[in-house]
Order: sequence, then C-alpha cells, then structure tokens
Amino acid sequence: MNPHPTHLHPNSWLVTAGRSSEPGASLNVPLVPASNFIIGGKREYSRDDGTPTWEALEELVGGLESGRAVAFASGMAAIAAVFDQLHAGAAVVLPDDCYQGVAGLVAAGAERGRWSVRRVALHDTPGWVDACRSADLVWLESPSNPLLGVADLEAICAAPRKPGAVVAVDNTFATPLNQRPLDFGATVSLQSATKFIGGHSDLLAGVATTSDEAFWHALKKSRELRGATPGTLESFLAVRGARTMALRLERSQQSAMALAERLAVHPAVELVRYPGLESHPTHATARRVLKGYGTIISFDVRGGAAAADAVCRRTGLIRHATSLGAVESTMERRAAIPGQGHLPPSLLRLSVGIEDAEDLWRDLDSALAASMP
Ligand SMILES: *Cc1c(COP(=O)(O)O)cnc(C)c1O
Repeated sequence: MNPHPTHLHPNSWLVTAGRSSEPGASLNVPLVPASNFIIGGKREYSRDDGTPTWEALEELVGGLESGRAVAFASGMAAIAAVFDQLHAGAAVVLPDDCYQGVAGLVAAGAERGRWSVRRVALHDTPGWVDACRSADLVWLESPSNPLLGVADLEAICAAPRKPGAVVAVDNTFATPLNQRPLDFGATVSLQSATKFIGGHSDLLAGVATTSDEAFWHALKKSRELRGATPGTLESFLAVRGARTMALRLERSQQSAMALAERLAVHPAVELVRYPGLESHPTHATARRVLKGYGTIISFDVRGGAAAADAVCRRTGLIRHATSLGAVESTMERRAAIPGQGHLPPSLLRLSVGIEDAEDLWRDLDSALAASMP
C-alpha cells in the first residue's frame, strides 16, 4: 500500500514519481488522451480503469501522503466521494471554520436528511476526541480556511473512534510536505491539487489518499459511478507543476513568515492570523504537528470593509483574485463572498507566491498606507 520508496526524500520523490525507466521512454510523464484501451491488458475504459497520466498523479500524491491515491476532477469531487461513503442518517462532525464548498455540501445533504451535522472548534481537542466516539465521519481541515486554525491532528487521529468511522483531513493548506495525516492515523487525506500541487492557477484537480485498501476501492468506485474523473491534460499539468512544489513552498513559506511579522506591527493592521506567529492562538499545536507554517496569511485591516476593499484595489504585484497556492500572490476580502458574511468584515486572505519578498512588502505596505484613515 505504500508506494513511497522510503529511501527518497519528498524533494526527490516530487521530481521522480511517475517516471518510466524503460529505455527509450520519455523523461516526462506521457500525456495519454484515451478513453479506450485494447482488451486483454491492464485497462479497458478510462472512467473505470484510469489512464497512465492520471496514474502518474496518483503515484506522486500517494507517495507524498504515504498511502494510495485516487485522482478526481477537482478537490470538491474528491471530497464529495468521501461523503458518498456515508450511510443514511450518518453523524458528521465539521470544524467551526472550513472551506465554504465543504460547508455547502454538508448543509445541502443535511437539508435533505442525509446526515446530521455537529460543528466543533478546531482548537477544541477534547471536543474532537469526544466527537470521535459517536461520529461516522470526523471531518478536519487544518490549517483551516480562512481563519488558519490548527487542529491537534496527532491527538484527534489517535483517539478511540466508533467502529467503521472515517477520519478525513482536508490537507490542502498544509500540503503533504508540511503534514501527513495518514501518519497520524487518519483514514483519508484530501488535496485540492488545483492549489499547491498544480501551483500555476491553470487547472482543477483533486486527490484523495488513504492507507485503507477497502476505502481506496470504494473511492475509486465512487469516481467511476459518478464520473468524477480527472482531466488528462490537468493530470499532466499537475504532475509537471508538482515537480517544483518543494522549491515553491519553501520560498513562499519563507516570504509568508517575513510578511506576517511585518504586518503584525503595521499601524493599518488590526490583527494577523498566521500559525507561525507566537501570537497565533494555536501556534504551539502548529509547531508540534506542522513541518512548516504555510503560505497563507489572513489579516484584518483597520477601517472596516471599505478600507480592506481599497487595499485590494491598490496592490499591483499582488493580484486581487481568489484561490491560493500558486506561483503568483493573490489576495481577497473573504467576507465579500456570498455566504461568507459571518467572517470578520475586513479580513483579507493573502496567498503568498514566489515573487521577491521585498517587492511584495513594498506593494502591501504602500496599499495599506494609502488606505489609512
Ligand atoms: C480549493 C479548496 C478546495 C476545493 O478544491 P477545488 O479544486 O476548487 O474543487 C477544498 N478545500 C480547500 C481547503 C481548498 O482550498
């Protein structure tokens, strides 16, 4: 079940995963646009059996997460395949702060009576341990979007759980380079490969990785029956993007720490949320469970929504755009998104890219200075 050759560091695995060693084979993963294969071999129809290009992405992410992966059309498709496993009336536990797509999916299912939902604060480890005893699906997202709460995955994944219960972790913000939920004992780890794995804002893809053989088959069956298959070009681009992921993450993370420290003492900023700052409420947990603090910073601008909107309009190098985990820095006011009105009105979520950190600071500092009352 573990396709990750243990002698390779993840930095090397990212470069080599999915490669052929056949003499004459291309160095790069082949882009194979195919629905049909000649009967008698490993594959017959790609929706059921996959393609060499999808499999390269699965091998790569599976190795990083230390499990066996199934690639999907998007992060949400991978997430929906996990919820697809629930029996009618299942009990679901969700963090107080999480990706709005997941919250929407869960709310829609609850409205139709498919499952019941309980929300627990990410920092409330005893609350999660207690929830593990009765829940059928314990859904974690850590660090969380957009408040960057960090859960004690080590303690929660080790807690006794109801027989057959699934512990799922949306590991998109951490990436498998900073956190490996399966090592802690989670059933499944989810990646929106749209973000750090692809890393160039040019594709949608998702990957679910598990070390439970039966669960892997069930996820693959769900993909087959729902048709939530990854695109071939997208899989190729995701592998190509992942080749440089360790370098991108290292640079972005270093810049994020430097920017978070400066934002924390900027007169136009009220509050900075970054797990790497000692002031962060779950910094101690982050230091223990994460290898790195990530590339996302959420900060509240003084002067409310109007001031925060002005900052977004005034940055240039930092693009006013949603999403995260790409080479370019992007920033947006999260409460401006429909359905996100519960968030602090002046909270900006900044995804730090690989640009020069001083250039990024100048861009941010001048936009903040111009918006001061
Ligand atoms: C983007 C994102 C998703 C959804 O992924 P898509 O590829 O857009 O479907 C899920 N969880 C988190 C934390 C995300 O950032």
